[in-house]
Amino acid sequence: MSLTTRFAPSPTGPLHLGHAYSALLAFDHAQAQKGQFLLRIEDIDRSRSRAAWETQIYDDLAWLGISWPEPVMRQSQRQDAYDTALDALWARGLLYPCSCTRADIAAATSAPQEGAPLLGPDGVIYPGTCRKSVQGPRPENAVLRLNMAAALRDLGPLSFTETGLPSHRGLVPVTSDNLVQAVGDIVLSRRDMGTSYHLSVVLDDAAQGITDVMRGADLFEATAIHVVLQALLGLPTPSYHHHQLIRDDTGKRLAKRDDARAISLYRAQGMSPADIRAMVGL
Ligand code: GLU
Repeated sequence: MSLTTRFAPSPTGPLHLGHAYSALLAFDHAQAQKGQFLLRIEDIDRSRSRAAWETQIYDDLAWLGISWPEPVMRQSQRQDAYDTALDALWARGLLYPCSCTRADIAAATSAPQEGAPLLGPDGVIYPGTCRKSVQGPRPENAVLRLNMAAALRDLGPLSFTETGLPSHRGLVPVTSDNLVQAVGDIVLSRRDMGTSYHLSVVLDDAAQGITDVMRGADLFEATAIHVVLQALLGLPTPSYHHHQLIRDDTGKRLAKRDDARAISLYRAQGMSPADIRAMVGL
């Protein structure tokens, strides 16, 4: 099978050096393997996504020498696919509506006898306050959580192949204890989005036929969630290559808002794509 990889930026700010590294790494890898490089715009967060940032992404990537087939997949046009998957999970009784606020969750998880709230790859591990089996049609405009223990009941042993991080290279087991205790009942559909990062990324990688996901090491822990969703939805699990994160001079990881290292700024200073490659070690 020929390799298909992708770069999936969110148009919520300028592309910075970390993005350039991720995109170039995936593009170079696809070229070297005579595979395909795809672009996907992850714009489910309507409140933070801007058309101007999306335009800037296309412009910066093209300037870096990266090309991709059109049309580009945009998550804002994929709600039907997200709804179909949510309906299927709802019909199997694996989702429940949650009305907890952040404050409710904080209060429920900071009771003195409980110790400090446990943090998972999706934030504070949900204490299960709203967990119950619900009949009837899937509610609209509701926060929907995955009942993780119920979801895992019918699934066999899960794993994925990691080809990037040296400390995890090889077959990485995804264990159910870890998922129930250290991940918990994650949100699959947010009220303001009608989906979530985890659900969308899994459905879109499958729809785009991605065989090799290349992305930053900050998403390594989230991969267990993606593998569970793939198993639940009958989707293939791609191979994963998590790469090191580009850090600033003080060793701090570049954040989305690190505009000081925006590619557009380097461009305005007269730097070349080769300079950018040299700066990220490619
Ligand atoms: N859209 C995500 C981001 O910009 C990347 C998601 C992924 O590569 O799985 O951080």
